[in-house]
Amino acid sequence: MTIVLDGLPASEGIAAGKIFHLRWGAPIVPHVTVAEAQIEAEVERFHAARSWAKARLLELKRSTEIRLGPVEARIFEPQILMLDDVEVVDGTLRYVRENRLSAERAFEWRMLELQALWSRTSHPMVLDRLNDLQDMVIRVLHRLLGHHDPTDLATLEEGVIIVSRDLTPSLMMQLDPRTVLGIATDHGTRTAHWAILARSLEIPAVVGLGDVTTRAKEGLDAILDGRIGRVVLEPGPEERDSFGSRQRRIDLWEDDVAEIAALESVTADGQYVELRANLDLPEEASQARAHGAVGVGLFRTEFLVVGRNTMPVEEAQYEAYRAVAEAFPSGAVFIRTFDLGGDKFPMFLHMPREENPMLGWRAIRVCLDEPHLFRTQLRALLRATAHGDVRMMLPLVNDVDEVRAVRTLLDEESERLVQEGIPFNTGYKLGVMIETPAAALDAAELARHCDFFSIGTNDLVQYTLAVDRTNTRLAKLYNPFHPAVVRQIHQVARVGRAAGIEVSVCGEMAAHPLGAFLLLGLDITVLSMGWPSLPEIKKMVRDIRIEDARRAARKALAADTSRDVAACLLEGIGTSVDLKVFSGRWSLSVPE
Ligand code: PEP
Ligand code: MG
Repeated sequence: MTIVLDGLPASEGIAAGKIFHLRWGAPIVPHVTVAEAQIEAEVERFHAARSWAKARLLELKRSTEIRLGPVEARIFEPQILMLDDVEVVDGTLRYVRENRLSAERAFEWRMLELQALWSRTSHPMVLDRLNDLQDMVIRVLHRLLGHHDPTDLATLEEGVIIVSRDLTPSLMMQLDPRTVLGIATDHGTRTAHWAILARSLEIPAVVGLGDVTTRAKEGLDAILDGRIGRVVLEPGPEERDSFGSRQRRIDLWEDDVAEIAALESVTADGQYVELRANLDLPEEASQARAHGAVGVGLFRTEFLVVGRNTMPVEEAQYEAYRAVAEAFPSGAVFIRTFDLGGDKFPMFLHMPREENPMLGWRAIRVCLDEPHLFRTQLRALLRATAHGDVRMMLPLVNDVDEVRAVRTLLDEESERLVQEGIPFNTGYKLGVMIETPAAALDAAELARHCDFFSIGTNDLVQYTLAVDRTNTRLAKLYNPFHPAVVRQIHQVARVGRAAGIEVSVCGEMAAHPLGAFLLLGLDITVLSMGWPSLPEIKKMVRDIRIEDARRAARKALAADTSRDVAACLLEGIGTSVDLKVFSGRWSLSVPE
């Protein structure tokens, strides 16, 4: 029987395949003791499982290196080392030999013991090891119990649609787009960081489906539409036809957008709009250019550190930043300093368990508290300024003191580079992301200390409305058209203009046709977005008149509710833009 499940669109594209459950958790291990004669066989089974896990991890490391580069591939190193750790190996063998436990039970006991031991300390390196430990435990236990490795999709003969409760950025790294056609999860949102990575890897995804893990049985046929956020289980001929023709329509539209990417980005009444790309990985730069980006408005640098057990060295960072700068020789490249915390945890940092991680030790707060980590990044960034128009951008800034503190560090690191004779651009630019109401309201002060503002609407909406951007249940309340959001953006744009600094937007709002229309109406003419959206937004830009956008924005600023804001924009954009092309594609809900 056909079942239709609606969630939130997270990564575009249509996929058809069989459901595959990615169960990422420790399995239940039965208590089994073995006969004396069986002991050595259990020892052998344990060693075989270890060797298998190691080979598997090495293979993953190699394929990640080919796909995403050596930096991302290092995610797997700590686990590979841990499989040979004497504490792990000898402890397990002792339980097999002395207590006559089955290999899996002995291994589980030893791991629980080590976890308990290590949890008692708060030393960062030890906590990092706990993280790796859990990942490794799950992999080895599944093997010993004869289960399928939850992330081993290599043996699957046909493409699958992964079903899982949720994912993590490092788990995402292990999925191969050639095998994984689509992803459907119970939880998550479009702005979760693994979803951002899914978009970079071009794997269609639908999130926030609630109970897809219980309703989608393994092996069922399914169609997933990442544009409208729908999963259809056991589709009949009618559904197949409808998705088929939808796919054909999208293909036609995509043929068009390739052409649009080459056109000028100017409104019908002559306003130039600078379109830049948001990148999560340096390797995306070429796709961004092919889709018409003239620069990079946001290069998220977290993927250099998330899932790693050691800090990336200056040289590796410098190479990554330089590669992006060189990919855009005549465009601006905004590189954001590490935005850690929230749902992005590097293993080498002691990230405390927090009640409210989104209000916790995040972004610039982490960097200022970890000067060793931060100075290395600042040096790499300074060095990259020698290779293009590289600008440094600080996330989640709340006040001027934070900018001052960064300037002090930059002055010191610049001085050292001068002494060492290492080239960099002494006229480098430093700006902030406006992501909190505090920053928006304090924009006039911040403008005196910055070279630019980039409005991060994903976080600005979350902090203005007190709605967690990762909470699926609240997705309907996460509304970028709320008058309080619109007025703050207006205020920041006005202040930036008065101060003579550039104001751009790099949140998802810029990739939403109505959102972009509003931003243009507020005189923000530099927009940065995930590169797949660039051609469509350019088409919209070319179809509208800036004067109409300004008029609609003026009305929107006087509106009482999000619904009224959206109505003003819909009226203003009129029929000049075919919104049907975009309809249902975005998780940003347009109030009816
Ligand atoms: C934002 O908050 O709008 C933003 C672009 O940053 P991120 O999505 O990485 O938090
Ligand atoms: Mg942000």
